[in-house]
Amino acid sequence: MTNKKKLFKQITIIGLGLIGSSLALSMKKSKISSKTVGYSRSSKTRNTSKRLNLVDKVSNKLEESVRGSDLIIICTPLSSYSNIIKKIIPHISKGTIISDVGSAKEKTINEIIPLLSNDDIFIPAHPIAGTEKSGPSAGFAELFDDRWCIITPLKNNKKSHINKVKNLWKSLGSDVEVMSPQRHDRVMAITSHLPHLIAYNIVSTAADLENVTKSDIIKYSASGFRDFTRIASSDPTMWRDIFLNNKEAVLEMISRFTEDLTALQKSIRWEDGKSLHKLFSKTRKVRDKIISAGQDTVDADFGRSKKR
Ligand code: NAP
Repeated sequence: MTNKKKLFKQITIIGLGLIGSSLALSMKKSKISSKTVGYSRSSKTRNTSKRLNLVDKVSNKLEESVRGSDLIIICTPLSSYSNIIKKIIPHISKGTIISDVGSAKEKTINEIIPLLSNDDIFIPAHPIAGTEKSGPSAGFAELFDDRWCIITPLKNNKKSHINKVKNLWKSLGSDVEVMSPQRHDRVMAITSHLPHLIAYNIVSTAADLENVTKSDIIKYSASGFRDFTRIASSDPTMWRDIFLNNKEAVLEMISRFTEDLTALQKSIRWEDGKSLHKLFSKTRKVRDKIISAGQDTVDADFGRSKKR
């Protein structure tokens, strides 16, 4: 591929976990930049990165890792953003785009804006792609293929900069959608964050049951419960940060969910089979609609976009 086709001169990936390492591999495959640099705080991750040849250069110094890059993508838990932004801002060149992959938007954006000057460019993004695994060995180049990436621009973002980030994700195989941070957070609250919360809760409830031994749970767990355990094995730090950063929308969805659950509880108590059947038929239609629209909503935060 010629240099003409390269979207960026040098890209820095901050955090080489599941998403960061997948980005590194996907970027290498699509050859969208001349050089990729990675930052990782731990020597274990840096060594794995070297072994897997994830990036051209890996550093343990934030300021060194961003020097000379025209795109920086933050791929660390949401609670680490402010510290990272404060440290990198003095070392970036004019015109450098800072982006991210964070799973919750509005609160994070509101925390970051005061740390930026008028010249700094921050374009938030969130690939709706992932697995329950974490760390640099979990990444794979195809993670973003046929998945959505949602961009939630700031009011002062220039169209040309948004387009650059759009083109980045398209080059990595994703479909791109632009929406407000508020809408993103509400959509994610119901399609991803609440399902994760339910998975964490159901597995925790099962583990706490006194009259069912843990081996019973392991022995008899049907596929539905096994899926919940898989989702509930997702990274605790990442998910703690998501719930703390999308508090309002998640609380709203929990309220609605609780009301609906109470109605179901009532139907079971009063042996109202008609209501139960009606609701289960309605939900089956939702599934049918998703399938016929060509969407396959596999799991929670790990959603899939169009199947081509
Ligand atoms: P991950 O596999 O656990 O990796 C996170 C990386 O961040 C680790 O490699 C860790 O570095 C680094 N890190 C953690 N705390 C840090 C700190 N305080 N300062 C600097 N570096 C720190 O997580 P991930 O799944 O890639 O998630 C990263 C981001 O992607 C999150 O913001 C998440 O919301 C978003 N996201 C995740 C998914 C998903 O399904 N997993 C999907 C879409 C978006 P060391 O290895 O050096 O300790």
